[in-house]
Amino acid sequence: MSTLLDTSTDPDDTTQTQDNQNPPSQRTAVARLMPGVGNTYLDSEFAQKLDSLEAFMEEQGIPITYLSAYRPQALQDYLRTSGTGITPAKDSLHSAGLAADLPMSTYTPEQRQAIVSAAKTLRLRWGGDFKSPGIDPNHFDLQPTNDHKSLINNFTPQVQRLRTFQ
Ligand SMILES: [Zn+2]
Repeated sequence: MSTLLDTSTDPDDTTQTQDNQNPPSQRTAVARLMPGVGNTYLDSEFAQKLDSLEAFMEEQGIPITYLSAYRPQALQDYLRTSGTGITPAKDSLHSAGLAADLPMSTYTPEQRQAIVSAAKTLRLRWGGDFKSPGIDPNHFDLQPTNDHKSLINNFTPQVQRLRTFQ
């Protein structure tokens, strides 16, 4: 029995063909404690989907530790230019709180397959399917629009506000 539920969409609403048709400006940032990462920030819809994914992983007895989640644009720029080996995406969904990396090589093949399949059920994208800039098996994200720049520009000031009031 799986408790994997996608609570972010109404299955009866057949008029909605995408996860979220709201413009980037209507998306919200939330504070979140992520094992392996610490206190950080995520897009609220992506956070909900990770809740479901984590519940599934817990049920399967798969340990939940993240390698990376939100990366402020400045950090992303540094990673891109310093050659640290991390996929150097410009305007990464990590900078909009819409991506998280799991230590996939630490899981069994069965666990990996279960995670990928659960993520896809939640309509998350898996980096193992990426053609450009390259395959990235640890990476999962939600891409509500391919206008990453607008997503980042909306997310960044919200994080600054959340930081101020914590
Ligand atoms: Zn990633």
